[in-house]
Amino acid sequence: MVIILPRDSELQQVVIYLFLLGMSGGAISVYSAHRTMLLATIGSILLPIATWFLFKGTVISTALSLGTLLFLVTTIRAGQVLSATMDRSFRLGYELEDAQVAAEQRALKDSLTGLNNRRAFYRHGQAMLEEAGRASRQLAMIISDVDYFKNINDTWGHHCGDVVLKAIADAHQVCLRSDDLCARLGGEEFGVLLLVKEKEQAREVAEDLRSCLESTVTACGDVKIPVTASFGVAVGSHDLESLFKQADASLYQAKERGRNRVVCSFDSDGTEMSEARKHMTGTTLKG
Ligand code: GH3
Ligand code: MG
Ligand code: MG
Repeated sequence: MVIILPRDSELQQVVIYLFLLGMSGGAISVYSAHRTMLLATIGSILLPIATWFLFKGTVISTALSLGTLLFLVTTIRAGQVLSATMDRSFRLGYELEDAQVAAEQRALKDSLTGLNNRRAFYRHGQAMLEEAGRASRQLAMIISDVDYFKNINDTWGHHCGDVVLKAIADAHQVCLRSDDLCARLGGEEFGVLLLVKEKEQAREVAEDLRSCLESTVTACGDVKIPVTASFGVAVGSHDLESLFKQADASLYQAKERGRNRVVCSFDSDGTEMSEARKHMTGTTLKG
């Protein structure tokens, strides 16, 4: 550093000196994210020059030396402040991003059961419809509604009703494949989405789920609460809304025909299946 300062021209010394001061200032912004680099860069530029001025021995050079050291100290301090501010703003940025992701996930989850909520069901449904198109599959929608659920609340209390809903959600996760998407659509209504090659696959999945729920007995305190649900099934590859309407209409049929059964919108009138699967009508909590 000292070598590049010409000994015979004070004007050139001043120009180089100012240039080095400028470099030191620039180093703050370049290395502010890295304290050690900042210290090393500014120190290696300014310390030799300050020492050189000090040993020149004139009043002006001593003043310049002190000025350089003062600049060195303030520059390092400014670098530290800038570095701490950047650290903080990076950290805040990451925290904000994490909070945003967590809030988005919360907005798609049902708080009672931890399943996807209705919003997530539709969002995934749209994506699965597109995937169905690409994979030459059809989207199956299975809507279920717990039978006589009001009786559970009325007989054992709302708390037990909540416990049953959680058990039903768990049963969904146990009985379905991990690829199948399940959601609590609201109240005691649940929905399942899956891609199928054949419509009959959807009926089989709904029937498995129906019998899985039927064999689920939930304990709430000392009481054991049996539960059944009715199912409506629709299969298609175009419009989620109309799929939902068909599944919902089939669910209504399943209720009409005695509950605890599966009705598919693609059955000619649904009668065949509902009769074949007639089980336990009114043997749950109808009272
Ligand atoms: P159906 O077989 O015709 O479906 O009869 P149901 O009694 O299941 O139907 P209904 O619609 O009469 O009753 C549903 C009940 O579900 C009413 C409501 O208070 C209860 N419910 C809705 N959401 C919750 C919840 O989050 N927790 C509890 N414990 N009960 C709920
Ligand atoms: Mg119900
Ligand atoms: Mg209902």
